[in-house]
Parts: sequence; C-alpha cells; structure tokens
Amino acid sequence: MRHNFGAGPCILPQEVFKQASQAVLDFKDGLSILEISHRTPEFEAVVEETTRLVKELLNVPSGYSVLLLQGGASLQFAMVPMNLLPEGKTASYLETGVWANKAIKEVPNFGKVNIIASSKDSNFTFVPKDYSIPEDSAYFHCTSNNTIYGTEMFSFPDTKVPVVCDMSSDIMSREIDVSKFDLIYAGAQKNIGPAGLTIVIVKDEILGKSGRKIPAMLDYSVHIEGGSMYNTPPVFSIYTAMLNLRWLKSKGGVAEIEKENKAKAYALYTEIDRNPLFKGTCAVEDRSRMNICFVMENPELEKPFLKFAEENGIEGLKGHRSVGGFRASMYNALPITSVHTLVELMQIFAEKHQ
Ligand code: PLP
Repeated sequence: MRHNFGAGPCILPQEVFKQASQAVLDFKDGLSILEISHRTPEFEAVVEETTRLVKELLNVPSGYSVLLLQGGASLQFAMVPMNLLPEGKTASYLETGVWANKAIKEVPNFGKVNIIASSKDSNFTFVPKDYSIPEDSAYFHCTSNNTIYGTEMFSFPDTKVPVVCDMSSDIMSREIDVSKFDLIYAGAQKNIGPAGLTIVIVKDEILGKSGRKIPAMLDYSVHIEGGSMYNTPPVFSIYTAMLNLRWLKSKGGVAEIEKENKAKAYALYTEIDRNPLFKGTCAVEDRSRMNICFVMENPELEKPFLKFAEENGIEGLKGHRSVGGFRASMYNALPITSVHTLVELMQIFAEKHQ
C-alpha cells in the first residue's frame, strides 16, 4: 500500500476518484460529465450543490457569496487588490512565506502595499503576532497555512479593517468563523477538489467600492450575478469537488475531520520531538497540521531515510527545496493509519542508526 504525503495537487479519497472517473464515462444517459452542456439542469444542480455544501460545511453566514472560479489562488493575488483597493489607498499584508510574497507583489499594480509584519528573516519558521493593522488600510491580507514552510495561523486579528485570507492549503481542514473574514479564497486542489477550481467566499457589502473599471472575468460582482456561470465553468473540477464535499459531510463535516487532523498531527509531531534523529523546523505554537516540516540532526542521514521510507510505501515526503529535509503533507484524505506507518518507519530507522 502507498501512503501519499505529497503536497498535491489534489489528494482525495480513492472512493471519490472512483466516482469521478465513472462520471467521465457516464454521467447521464451514457454521456460524460465532460460533454453534457453546463447549462443543463443536471449540471446546474451540481453547481448548486457544490455551493451549498461549501456554505453548509463552513457555516457561511448570510450576506456572503460563494463563488466557483478559475485561475487558482494566484489569480486571486491580483483580483483581491483589483476589486478591493482604490487607487492611492494602502492594503496591509502579513508576509509569512512565498505565497504571501506573491500576493504582495501584485498590489502595486493597483495601489500601495504595507507589509506590517514578516518572518522572512527567519526563513518563515514562525507566524508574526506582534503587529497592528493601520485603521486606514483598505484591507488586511494573511495566509492561514504556509504550505511550503509548515506554519499555520491559529488566531486571526480582531479589526474593523476588512480581513482577506488565502486559505488554499487548510480550508475544510478545521472549523473557522467565516464572519471574522470579509473575503476568503482558496485554490481547490488540497482539501476540496482537482486543480482548475478556485473557491471564493466574499462578503457582498465590501464589493463595488474600488472606483475602477474591472474586466468582467476579474470582477467578483459579475461572477455573483452569473451564479459562477458567467463563462464555461471547470465542469470536472466542480463535479469532483462536489463528490469530495459529500464525502466530507458523510464523515461528520469539518468538526470531525478537524479532530482527525489534530490526532494525525499530534502523532507525527510527538515522534519528531521524541526521536533523537529528527527535529521540527518551525516554532512549536505555529506548527501546521497540514504540512509538517522536519529535518534530521545529521543531514547525511536524510537521503537514506527518504529511500527507506519510499521503499516502505511512503510517497511525496521530500521537503520543498527552500526548506530541505522532509515535508509530510497530511490533508483530509490521508488516513491516520498512514501517519502511524510513517512514525513506525522513523522508529525502525532510528533503532538502526543510533
Ligand atoms: N497559496 C497557497 C497557500 C498555496 O499553497 C498555493 C499553492 O500551493 C497557492 C497559493 C497557489 O495556488 P494556485 O496554484 O492555485 O495558484
């Protein structure tokens, strides 16, 4: 059996992949999900259910729209300032990694950017907490989980300034209070569905204030009006996301999966801290439950350990090139038994190399 600790894209339960592949062959009367018109009642029902499941699973309050868009989180890096930042105004950003940095780089195309705190000097091994958000900021932007470095935000600021959050790599992994945010975006491909779909949850009242003319495809209001069907939607990604969200609901929803994610993270971090061969790379209080980064006390043992792990069914454990070592990505679909297998392998390896 293989245990997929890869960072994606798109780690989903086997049963979801099976159902999705069936719909490619026969979704309705022998026709593929890929070929039926997206304007049929059958596909409109898919969009409706996917949107409803996002709202239900995240407990989205009224006054918010859920959008199923394209372009990945990377397009949101530009759409956010384009829609929310009037020319001449300033947006405040928290710099917690490569993705936050890419978001920051788009802002000067539309207005001014203020990096109010950064952990860049420590290679993003912690999430800054000591900052204040200037009251005249058009919005505050943060990244809830830093996929590459393995840090996660466990508290969010209380502020009158609109809060925007990139939740690409931890959305649906834990309960969040959506009312604390004004705009949430996420590339779907970690815990939601295949790449090609981007989820946006936006508080309607913050829109329409940028004072600029926005191209239709980049305007949230156009997509709200079009019910996420202004143009041809990514039909397969949406359909598969719907199946996966059904799976999540059947498991008891986000609260239940959060318990499982906590148990998985606890099991691996406990071994990293206990086993003298390994050490974590991030501040303990900011350790991500989705992407667990660790190295070995003796870097020369890293290659042999990776080989040993791979020979025993572990996939995708190699760390991102900017951190090195290992990164165990543990999205919703990864069973806790896979984490137990990894822990066991770390123990066996340590016995041989002490
Ligand atoms: N933001 C975060 C936190 C990510 O992890 C990623 C990709 O892994 C992105 C943004 C970029 O997303 P996309 O490839 O959908 O543009």
